[in-house]
Amino acid sequence: MEKKGTLIVVSGFSGVGKGTVVKRLVEDYGYSLSISATTRAPREGEVDGREYYFKTREEFMSLIDYNGLIEWAVYVDNYYGTPRAFVERELAAGHNVILEIEVQGAMNIKSQYPDSVLIFLTAPSAEELKNRLIGRGTEDPAVIEKRMKRAVEESEDMEQYEYIVVNDDLDQCVKDVNSVIVAKSCRLEENKEFMNKMKAELKAL
Ligand code: 5GP
Repeated sequence: MEKKGTLIVVSGFSGVGKGTVVKRLVEDYGYSLSISATTRAPREGEVDGREYYFKTREEFMSLIDYNGLIEWAVYVDNYYGTPRAFVERELAAGHNVILEIEVQGAMNIKSQYPDSVLIFLTAPSAEELKNRLIGRGTEDPAVIEKRMKRAVEESEDMEQYEYIVVNDDLDQCVKDVNSVIVAKSCRLEENKEFMNKMKAELKAL
C-alpha cells in the first residue's frame, strides 16, 4: 500500500529567512511546496502563483465560504490561507508537503493533521532578526515595528512547536530541517505497516 505523504509546517519569525530555507528544501530534497492565498499586496519581484496567489478581500472570503482553504489566519492586517486542493492531492500521491505558515495556522493544522511535523525557525539572536528585517528593505519602518512586536508574541508560541531550528548558516539550516523530517519518518509509529509486512514475509520464508 502506498504511504500517504507528511505535512510539514515551517514557521518562524518574520525576516528569519523561511522563504529561502523552504525554497532550498524543495530544490535539494524534492518536497512539494504549498502556495498560499493572501490579501497582502505583492512585494517587488513577487509573482502571482509563485510566491502567493494574490487575492482581493472579496475573493479571499469566497475561498473561505466554499471550504477552499484548510486553514487561514490574519497576520498584520492581512489574510493568509492554505488552498485545500493542492495539499490533499499531494498527500494522497504520497508526497511530503511543506506549508510555510504562521503560528495560528500551525496549531490549526496540528489539530486537523496530528501526524504533521511542526518546525520553528529562529535567528541566532533578536538583534540579528531585526537586522535581517531592516536589511531586506522591502518593509517600511512602521511595518518593521509591527512585525517585531508580532515576533514578541510569536516567541511565546515557540513552545507549541516540536522542533526549533536556528537559521545561522543557510546550508546547515536546510540540512537540519531535512534531518528532522527524515528522523520523524523513521519513528516506530510511522512504520507499523512496514514492520507487519516484514514480520509476515519473514514467517513465510
Ligand atoms: P509575508 O507577508 O511575510 O509573506 O507572510 C507573513 C506571515 O504569514 C508569515 O509568518 C507566513 O509564514 C504567514 N503565512 C503565509 N502563508 C500563510 C498561510 O497560508 N496561512 C497562515 N496561517 N499563515 C501564512
